[in-house]
Amino acid sequence: MDYSKLANDIRAAMPELDLREREPMAEHCSFRVGGPAAAMALPRSAAELETLCRLLRERGVKPLIIGNGTNILPPDEGLDRFVVASCPGVGQVTVEGNTVTADCGATLAAAAMAAADAGLTGLEFAHGIPGSVGGGVVMNAGAYGGELKDAVAETEYLDEELVLRTAKGEEHEFAYRHSAFSGREVVILRTSFALSSGDRDAIQGKMRELAAKRRASQPLDMPSAGSTFKRPVGGYAAALIDQAGLRGFTIGGAQVSEKHAGFVVNAGGATCADILRLMDHIQKTVFARNGILLEPEVLVLGR
Ligand SMILES: Cc1cc2nc3c(=O)[nH]c(=O)nc-3n(C[C@H](O)[C@H](O)[C@H](O)COP(=O)(O)OP(=O)(O)OC[C@H]3O[C@@H](n4cnc5c(N)ncnc54)[C@H](O)[C@@H]3O)c2cc1C
Repeated sequence: MDYSKLANDIRAAMPELDLREREPMAEHCSFRVGGPAAAMALPRSAAELETLCRLLRERGVKPLIIGNGTNILPPDEGLDRFVVASCPGVGQVTVEGNTVTADCGATLAAAAMAAADAGLTGLEFAHGIPGSVGGGVVMNAGAYGGELKDAVAETEYLDEELVLRTAKGEEHEFAYRHSAFSGREVVILRTSFALSSGDRDAIQGKMRELAAKRRASQPLDMPSAGSTFKRPVGGYAAALIDQAGLRGFTIGGAQVSEKHAGFVVNAGGATCADILRLMDHIQKTVFARNGILLEPEVLVLGR
């Protein structure tokens, strides 16, 4: 694929679009690793995102849509893909009655804040999750007893054939860190959350309380992708990793967080290869000790 030619072609059709070639993925993911994407567009509205996807499709190109890059691990050698970064550009949030509707690239924090400002309860748990609405829906992000599945009413998306569709309620097929969109090449455009009236001070107080819990227990000052592994049946990944004596264990610049053993962090100068070797070591060590194979939660790109 001649990405320079493709980029020039797209620029001619969409002169306002922020379109970059050989854009470092490290600048678009919370792990701060990864080589360049062949091309990256950063649309500033859902309409721009949709137009871009249609232009790419006409040219036979399936883009990789990312949100805030807080659950991805891009390879050191870069990505031979046209990446579309939706967050924060595609970020409109509106409130109507008890419904908050957020574009895919709105942060979960922005959606939760809009709900709180309108005195709507149901998204407090999502305020501290650093992803976007699109990424959150794909992953069914959750924290402190809440999951997006509890609040999502409907999602507008472009399916693999770029047909505009709406998923309602159970059609999202939400499960633990999984949705009907997981592993598919769809483009989530926006999601509506059905919330309940509540007390604004109590809602904001709950968000502050959860933020304090997060700060106390998670290494928020170091690059990571949050929990590296999913919660295995009948246990907690962090506890298993800790019991295996791996807290602080380091390979290259990748480290099992001293503060929270469930997080692999970039302790300085880590590469994707360091992180993958450390994840592999954790899986083998925990398996040898407990017979449990930890499944990565972070999405390894380019495999
Ligand atoms: C410090 C820290 C704490 C975290 N805490 C939590 C937590 O408490 N709970 C939790 O669940 N997660 C947590 N995470 C992980 C992460 O924030 C969530 O998984 C989040 O939902 C990912 O959203 P994102 O926008 O960053 O998605 P990305 O990482 O950008 O992408 C994730 C996946 O979604 C796809 N995607 C993104 N946007 C779209 C779209 N518009 N259309 C189609 N596909 C799309 C991508 O292709 C990719 O497959 C944490 C991460 C960090 C760094």
